Amino acid sequence: MDSLEELELDVRGMTCDSCAHHVTQALQGVEGIVEVDVPGWQSSKARVVVEGDVPAEAIAAAVRDAGYAATLKSRRPVDKAASRNGHGGDKDYDLLVIGAGSGGFAAAIRGVELGQRVALVNDGTLGGTCVNVGCVPSKALIRAAEAWHRAGQQVFAGVTTRQESLDWDAVRSQKDSLVTGLRQSKYADVLAAYPDITFIPGRARFQADGSVLVGDKIIRARKYMITTGARPRMLPIPGAAEAGVLNSTTLMDLPQLPKSLIVLGGRAVALELGQAMARFGVQVVILQRSPRILPEHEEEISRALRESLQEEGVGVVTGVQVERIEREGEERVVSVRVNGSPQVYRAEQVLMALGRQPNTDGMGLAEVGVELNESGAIVVDGQMRTSHPDIYASGDCTTNPEFVYVAAAGGGIAAENALNGAGRVLDLSAMPAVIFTDPAVATVGLTEAQAKAQGYEVQTSLLPMSYVPRALAARDTRGLIKLVVDASTDQLLGAHILAPEAGEMIQTAVMALRFGATAQDLRDTLFPYLTNVEGLKLAALGFEKDVAMLSCCAG
Ligand SMILES: Cc1cc2nc3c(=O)[nH]c(=O)nc-3n(C[C@H](O)[C@H](O)[C@H](O)COP(=O)(O)OP(=O)(O)OC[C@H]3O[C@@H](n4cnc5c(N)ncnc54)[C@H](O)[C@@H]3O)c2cc1C
Repeated sequence: MDSLEELELDVRGMTCDSCAHHVTQALQGVEGIVEVDVPGWQSSKARVVVEGDVPAEAIAAAVRDAGYAATLKSRRPVDKAASRNGHGGDKDYDLLVIGAGSGGFAAAIRGVELGQRVALVNDGTLGGTCVNVGCVPSKALIRAAEAWHRAGQQVFAGVTTRQESLDWDAVRSQKDSLVTGLRQSKYADVLAAYPDITFIPGRARFQADGSVLVGDKIIRARKYMITTGARPRMLPIPGAAEAGVLNSTTLMDLPQLPKSLIVLGGRAVALELGQAMARFGVQVVILQRSPRILPEHEEEISRALRESLQEEGVGVVTGVQVERIEREGEERVVSVRVNGSPQVYRAEQVLMALGRQPNTDGMGLAEVGVELNESGAIVVDGQMRTSHPDIYASGDCTTNPEFVYVAAAGGGIAAENALNGAGRVLDLSAMPAVIFTDPAVATVGLTEAQAKAQGYEVQTSLLPMSYVPRALAARDTRGLIKLVVDASTDQLLGAHILAPEAGEMIQTAVMALRFGATAQDLRDTLFPYLTNVEGLKLAALGFEKDVAMLSCCAG
């Protein structure tokens, strides 16, 4: 058997993550190299393990051909069994990813792109939450509800005269076919396109020795990645289990729509699905424990959204403490205290939309020393490291915000950090967040209260959408824009929008925030007339002028 040697190289010319990737690929192409580690472009280093006699000149030539320069720094014999990434060692894989949702897919793909041996374990439906029971089905239903609502408004306004009754079966099956199609094209087909990813169906659990058990198979990997997501949190409200309550998944799959629905909760999922159901003709009341819906958002946005929902006939009650849920015939009876006073609400169904529970239980995480917070979420740092040096995590099972793009971005970064020591950080400072109500809520950065709490001297501008020409032309002036800037530097700290399709407006503010733009930069930028996004410029002008007195195109 040939001996193994470890070579350390100085690499010049790497300026970004792609460079590190190119150098890795170049080194992997050299015959005799069995292991490559480029710990990030910033390191200007590479480590390779060679089997047999591989001349340093051949290695340098491969790196040179890729456009970089490598010089040998050290060369030493290594014990084959101790080879770190298990090529020929005692590990089955370099990276074992647990959970095949968006975060898991991103991690597994990045792992094989880095030339590593990757396995992906999944228990449940391929694709996880977003495509199966989250973003995709909910947005399909929300869009259908919006179309149905608009058609109803036209009847009301005499624009059309006839409206069929809602065909819920057709709505549901269109939603299901979108889910099936996207699961196939974005997950099953993608997995097939990466034959180097070993897919292992089954439930994974860590063993005390650090290996992972799936079924009766013990798997050992150099690094592990947990992307097991979350499930609806079902609080143990007395009587709830016996009465039978819905969660977001079961609501979207009901064989028929209820006549009435009580929604417990006042954040994204509760508001999105509550409004959609109301627009389908269900009588909806939202019961929220906090003094306002969306308690973490700007108060002006919570208030305006509440008014908007109520104008559509959605009941919104805040300050609600739920005490008991019972079933009486076809009805569910919810006994509550509203700001201390007893009250009873009745409806055919109850939706519990009180947040998500991380899927971290029963995984043996305590045994291997992975720290969880009080809600059971895996505590990760910006590099997606857990408290265990060989275990990384991303997505809804962690302390990070629950958005699919955060899960996926974190998955890719974690794979690079785990496998290459790249030291990349997931930057959430300019993270957009959208709630798909109508009007929608879209935000980025700090709220006024958060900015003040962080010690900023804050200036804000509040622009009702009735100042935005596009909104006037569309005869839909619901909503507002609030900008938060650092008064001492004029730098944008946050943008908060309530407007129809606000999700389509927010990315301009995301870019502005990400690249350190000031309110003056927004004022100096050309915005197209008539668009709702022009409201950002008008809001920025609002720091200096009375927007009502502006001429056309914010002149
Ligand atoms: C109703 C609803 C609407 C949403 N809308 C949006 C939206 O519009 N935009 C947005 O950005 N986000 C939205 N989200 C959130 C988004 O869906 C999640 O943030 C995202 O899907 C999380 O991805 P993940 O990879 O962390 O986990 P998941 O996609 O949940 O994947 C986890 C996978 O791991 C598997 N698993 C769990 N435990 C184990 C185990 N022990 N062993 C093996 N496998 C295991 C699970 O079965 C699952 O397949 C919504 C969520 C919901 C519920």
